[in-house]
Amino acid sequence: MRALVLMVSGLAALAAAAAEEARPVRDVGGGIHLLPGGAYTDRGPDGNTVIIDAPQGLIVVDTGRHDWHSDAILGFAASAKRPIVAIVNTHWHLDHSSGNGRLKRVHAGARVYTTNAVDRALAPGGFLVRDLEMVKGLLGKPEFSVTRQDDFRRFIATMAERDVLRPDVVLTKSGPMTLAGKTLDVRVTDKAVTDADVWLYDANSGVAIIGDLVTVPVPFFETACPRKWGSALDEVWRTPFKLAIPGHGEPMSREQFNAYRTSFHAFVDCAVSDKAVQQCGKVWSSGVASLTAGNASAQQEAQSGAEYYTELLREGGGKSRDCLAE
Ligand SMILES: [Zn+2]
Repeated sequence: MRALVLMVSGLAALAAAAAEEARPVRDVGGGIHLLPGGAYTDRGPDGNTVIIDAPQGLIVVDTGRHDWHSDAILGFAASAKRPIVAIVNTHWHLDHSSGNGRLKRVHAGARVYTTNAVDRALAPGGFLVRDLEMVKGLLGKPEFSVTRQDDFRRFIATMAERDVLRPDVVLTKSGPMTLAGKTLDVRVTDKAVTDADVWLYDANSGVAIIGDLVTVPVPFFETACPRKWGSALDEVWRTPFKLAIPGHGEPMSREQFNAYRTSFHAFVDCAVSDKAVQQCGKVWSSGVASLTAGNASAQQEAQSGAEYYTELLREGGGKSRDCLAE
């Protein structure tokens, strides 16, 4: 069942379940605002959204999965009386991009900036196309709850307008880029969570917006190239960020990020060895203990999730089946 929950482009059900409503938008300084994502009972999660005030309008980094999440983004723009002019998708997982269409319907000038990694996920036999075929077969099956069926329908509706997931402006390489009149350091990974992810560094505020390169309590390896992902974490570490905003979970200090990074490398080393699955779970869960302290369900999810992903990575020869090469 876990595999199924994971595969439906929901990816892992995270630890603490939240109410099915958006959380308040928080100011993190430097003209940067965080709409925290959520993890729900029997649903896929919403990733974090970061909204950047720029001279020509708002830059929205990731758009969530559920209506209540995209409504909160639209509500922020409405109360600020500012247009959304740029949408950056850190990667194509649907907890980060399903809201693209809803935002574009209200803000017709918004352009989507992301890599073309999504094209392979949407090609015949690609991850999202495989998921869609599976989910169509699950609709109406009594063993799936009303809420899960609701997520199934949402996924099918997103796939019906799948072109909103594709970039209007394709990001192909790292470098400074001016979006909405604001210059950001845009980084494109060579593999990581997907074939090519995007993360941003704003030198002005010292904030790095890193998408699912970091997800607490456990990384999502469904479409991952783990070694290249580790290299991307090293690249983040080499930038002088003060605060890193991950794809799920709370903003992190450098020290917290580094605990995650070093644990990530140790976990991947274990996952590709012949050590016991439980031992690799322990390598991860103890490595990130400082990030899950005081949260028993997150600690449990760190252990069980890392055990699950050890097996997934071993089945794929040290990577996910959707990673072409390391
Ligand atoms: Zn995510």
